[in-house]
Amino acid sequence: MSKVPNGYEVIQLFEQFAPKSLAMEGDPIGLQMGTLNKPIHTVFIALDVLEEVVDEAIANRADLMIAHHPPLYRPLKQILTDQAQGRIIEKCLKHNITVYAAHTNLDIAQGGVNDWLAETLGLKEVEVLAPTYEEKLKKLVVYVPKTHASAVREALGHAGAGHIGNYSYCTFNSEGIGTFLPEDGANPFIGAKGELEQVEEVRIETIVPASLQKKVIAAMLKAHPYEEVAYDVYSLDNQGHTWGLGRVGKLLQETTLGEFAEHVKKSLDVPAVRVVGQLDDPVKKVAVVGGDGNKYIRQAKMSGADVYVTGDVYYHVAHDAMALGLNIVDPGHNVEKVMKQGVARFLEQEFAKKKWNTAVYASKVHTDPFTFV
Ligand SMILES: [Zn+2]
Repeated sequence: MSKVPNGYEVIQLFEQFAPKSLAMEGDPIGLQMGTLNKPIHTVFIALDVLEEVVDEAIANRADLMIAHHPPLYRPLKQILTDQAQGRIIEKCLKHNITVYAAHTNLDIAQGGVNDWLAETLGLKEVEVLAPTYEEKLKKLVVYVPKTHASAVREALGHAGAGHIGNYSYCTFNSEGIGTFLPEDGANPFIGAKGELEQVEEVRIETIVPASLQKKVIAAMLKAHPYEEVAYDVYSLDNQGHTWGLGRVGKLLQETTLGEFAEHVKKSLDVPAVRVVGQLDDPVKKVAVVGGDGNKYIRQAKMSGADVYVTGDVYYHVAHDAMALGLNIVDPGHNVEKVMKQGVARFLEQEFAKKKWNTAVYASKVHTDPFTFV
């Protein structure tokens, strides 16, 4: 049975992919206009919320717009409808278009903007360029009667515990004897009040990302037969998953800076790029930051990249890169347009899985302000 989800359901699903907690401090992400408390028949995806883009959303009867660049970026003192920003707000509210921004959280997300760019450039062995957040890991140990060990292991794994690299449902199990004496008020699953009980139990150990701790423990308690469950949670020093801005990876084959610049133009679909460096320099390792990556030239150099692909490079930053011996290819900020298809693909797949009857529409309006002549 297909259904039309409400805004909360759509955003909850989207935030599993690009959690708000990944965003950089002060980034005004999330719900910006309208309400999520309504059915969503059409989701519209945009890079920039320009007035033409809002008109396109209206024409496509969008209920929810997911935009990369937050249309409300700085605090507003006035909403003047003789100016573009005021009209954008007016039109969205009048046409009941809810606007939700996913900015640096979408850049940082695993499989987000920077991964789409790395993929489009054909990079392999891709890693994070500038780490922003490292997941803490916990160890969960729980004691379960033998009869229920497999049900509890299943619940733990299903809730996301026991992920190590490309392996899931990882646990270690040792058998032993559990003892307990049910006191007044107890309603024991095994044994009787006032009698010391001995039960064959299994000690199940597994690893849990801190962000999933609550969910995993809730699932474990639900699958466990005991009234009072004995379990321990330990903090670990193991390195968890690292999130961050930008990516660094390798081209399949070494090329020259000049040829690489041509490759960037073609693959990212831009008419021209700006290049810093000697065109015959060899290029194999590539760092990329979508949008404005001026802040990350040192990380790009430290990563060992032969070339750094980013937009909006300032004159003096280009000089700094030259001094560092770092080549740059600047395809502009608009290459982040890959997010439109990226988010659309993700939502279409997830909606299909859930049998949600919601259309996904990626904006076709060209929003690059620059023309090359
Ligand atoms: Zn951007």
